[in-house]
Amino acid sequence: MTDNRRVRVRFAPSPTGPLHIGGVRTALYNYLFAKHFGGDFILRIEDTDSGRYVPGAEEYIFQSLEWCGIKIDEGINEGGPHAPYRQSERRDIYLKYALELVENGNAYYAFDTPEELNALRAEAEKQGKTFAYGPATREGLCNSLTLSEDEVKQRIDRGDVWVIRFKMPENENVEMEDIIRGHMVVNTNTLDDKVLYKSVDRLPTYHLANIVDDHLMEISHVIRGEEWVPSLPLHFLLYRAFGWSDTQPQFAHLPLLLKPVGQGKLSKRDGDKFGFPVFPLEWHSPDGEVSMGYREQGYFPEAFINMLALLGWNPGTDQEIFNMEQLIDSFSLERVSKSGARFSPDKAKWFNAQYMKTRDDAELGAILKGLLKEKGIETTLERASKAVSLIKERATFPSELLPLTLYMFQAPASYDEKSVGKSWKEDDVKNLLLLREQLAACSEIIPEETEQAVHQWIMDNGLSMGRLMNSLRLAVIGISQGPSIFAICGFIGKEETLRRIDYAVANIK
Ligand code: GLU
Repeated sequence: MTDNRRVRVRFAPSPTGPLHIGGVRTALYNYLFAKHFGGDFILRIEDTDSGRYVPGAEEYIFQSLEWCGIKIDEGINEGGPHAPYRQSERRDIYLKYALELVENGNAYYAFDTPEELNALRAEAEKQGKTFAYGPATREGLCNSLTLSEDEVKQRIDRGDVWVIRFKMPENENVEMEDIIRGHMVVNTNTLDDKVLYKSVDRLPTYHLANIVDDHLMEISHVIRGEEWVPSLPLHFLLYRAFGWSDTQPQFAHLPLLLKPVGQGKLSKRDGDKFGFPVFPLEWHSPDGEVSMGYREQGYFPEAFINMLALLGWNPGTDQEIFNMEQLIDSFSLERVSKSGARFSPDKAKWFNAQYMKTRDDAELGAILKGLLKEKGIETTLERASKAVSLIKERATFPSELLPLTLYMFQAPASYDEKSVGKSWKEDDVKNLLLLREQLAACSEIIPEETEQAVHQWIMDNGLSMGRLMNSLRLAVIGISQGPSIFAICGFIGKEETLRRIDYAVANIK
């Protein structure tokens, strides 16, 4: 699938706002593909649309990729043989290429003013049509195809505003290959003459800058979102117009990310609407709006990446948990699907829970120690880590470590009413007091050992194990869930266990 060229891919976001998870997935697939083939991952910032520039968006892109563990080989901060990697700093490069296309007859100057074009659009609309600047209309408009050479020169010399437009060939079938979508054919009569360059800001448009840069940066594969499929015929024709078809990149257009329910693509607004993040990091917009991020919600970058990797790609096996190395190893564009991938917030949580389980007790213990401190509870890292080891199977996010372990550091302040109703009848209390005597007779509570002895004693006395354990749990931690009650009693110690039983017996009504 790859020719003999070195694999070089680029992620080419426009800094028009925070990077959406769809954008992160595009970056990820580019990265996985490049690394699979030992190639280069380039970050190019496409900021030629100055009207849509959002301050902070570029920095946000750098930080997001870093958090995700996507390493950039060439880019603004990394440098590289094709610097600069920010298109606004490359503006001097593009005019020459636009003029080359005018020279060889593939583009032309156009002088029509916005007012004139708006009038044409309005006129067409009245007749129920849409106006397109293209093969059918350009011969009647104000451009270097209709004006004399002298007049064109005069207009340019006196500083008239001009653009350079691509001269779309008439009635030609453009044949295209896409690694994911296969063969595609589009007739040029459905396309218009896109603007490639504007004299107003001396800047190229996306189409020209993108093609010129991909060529100059020796990009071998363009992997990007499906929304760019409609631009593909123009891009093929631009490569041809420059005489670069032989070295043009191969294309792969990725499927859309779909909303969790219903129809349509996952939008930037869906996050706040449905209460899950659609951005990798929290975003503070210039006008003060805050959108939630995966990082701040307590997602591990590894879990986030693992989840994203499987949104549109499948390994062809049942394996779901992949670290970055394994993803690089297994990834292929051939296993990326054509149809949209439905995003699931529940699945995102599931991935985080899986990664939670594999986290170091000491790492999570340090987090718990900090959370406890905020509540005014001091403990050692060793005890916090031990507490974590008992419950981490039950947690999805690090923030849950505190509620899941609080009873290990302080006695319950209240008792779950439903459990009181079920496990605190007269007989229950009587049996619990008998059990208390057994526990009091031990020198200390050693979880498995004490548990075995208690089980034996329960059997010998014909008591109900379930009921008694529920009453013990209720007295010691106040609720009916949690890890092994003997593990908890061992953790808090014999004296504290007895004290909690006594307090419960005296206080639960
Ligand atoms: N700047 C374009 C974007 O923001 C890049 C499209 C491409 O990769 O060609 O999506």
